Amino acid sequence: MLDRDELKNLVREALQTSDEELSCDDCLDEVDRYVELELAGLDPGSALPMVRDHLRKCGDCREEFEALLAAVREVDGRGGGGVVPARSFWQRLLFGR
Ligand SMILES: [Zn+2]
Repeated sequence: MLDRDELKNLVREALQTSDEELSCDDCLDEVDRYVELELAGLDPGSALPMVRDHLRKCGDCREEFEALLAAVREVDGRGGGGVVPARSFWQRLLFGR
């Protein structure tokens, strides 16, 4: 027989795992795609909801994601409205301001 707490745990687990869950490895496999969509101005959360969910729950992967996003933005210089250090650097270099 299950007591009430065990039952609660089971239900909680069932709810959490009702959708397939990504492991951190799976998430990191997909995260560059997620970053690409983000940078393309698309909505990565609806294209890759499992990655979004994982990033919400997992601080480690979120850090990876944010670092990757920042790095790619800097390299590409196509950050949508964000501060892009590389751009001001080139501006100063080319135009002296
Ligand atoms: Zn993770």
